[in-house]
Amino acid sequence: MELWFTERQTPGVALSFQVIRTIHRERTRYQDLAVLETRDNGKVLVLDGCVMTTDLDEFVYHEMIAHVPLCTHPCPRRVLVIGGGDGGTVREVLKHDSVEAAVLAEIDGGVIEASRQHLPNLSRSLDDPRCHVMVGDGAEHVSSRPGEYDVILCDSTDPVGPGAVLFSGGFYRASHQSLTGDGVFCAQMESPFFHGELIGRVVRDLRRVFPVVRLYLAVVPTYPGALWSFVLASKKADPVRDARTVRLNTRYYTPEVHRAAFVLPKFVEELVRPESP
Ligand code: SAM
Repeated sequence: MELWFTERQTPGVALSFQVIRTIHRERTRYQDLAVLETRDNGKVLVLDGCVMTTDLDEFVYHEMIAHVPLCTHPCPRRVLVIGGGDGGTVREVLKHDSVEAAVLAEIDGGVIEASRQHLPNLSRSLDDPRCHVMVGDGAEHVSSRPGEYDVILCDSTDPVGPGAVLFSGGFYRASHQSLTGDGVFCAQMESPFFHGELIGRVVRDLRRVFPVVRLYLAVVPTYPGALWSFVLASKKADPVRDARTVRLNTRYYTPEVHRAAFVLPKFVEELVRPESP
């Protein structure tokens, strides 16, 4: 008999994985958590029925959420990762020699523990001496740390439950305050196919706070619509004009992919077109 896990990505679209076995399953303080061994995607982390990471394509997402902003900043030393309890984004951040501290602010300690136990390819970096793990709300953390970080990466769940606050204008203002004078903020920003209104609203909110706000794209096959977006907001550097050319141990990110990621298809350009005065 075959066993399948199906993620309802929208009310009318689903994605299914053939499951070899359930490695771990629990109800944490915040969410339903599962780690599955699947036939074609390897290990899959699922939170509240939503696919967070899969062995097959996690490197695309984690490399692109980390290296684009870090290579935009002139010399990132203190980096904050909000969410990201699986450890994949911290793993990529620590590939930068300039980074002295990578702080992880993850609200759900159960995600960190499950990843430590079952997803070592993602979580191994959490034991790096430069990594400091804080279990708590990322929005509260930035509100109490003015001028603390060179780069803030928001590797959150979707805008529901505890993740909703990480898509608010108040959070973007607090993040701006928590960044140094040439700080860079970046957040995963969902699917241009299914979340266009959200993308447009977030870009407008960020433009009220940051002088430079740009969207970039990558292909993550297991996320809804496969084409995934990230929004970068910067106090000074432009992510294309000022990007540093850094050759890293990666499988997707290159300096050329960095620049190409900001070339947007017409329907995405229209989502983020500045409002006419
Ligand atoms: N890469 C995945 C994606 O793009 O869907 C998300 C990675 S990670 C698993 C997302 C994490 O955000 C979850 O572990 C969740 O607990 C955490 N999270 C949600 N809201 C949060 C908040 N307000 N503060 C800190 N972490 C939060």
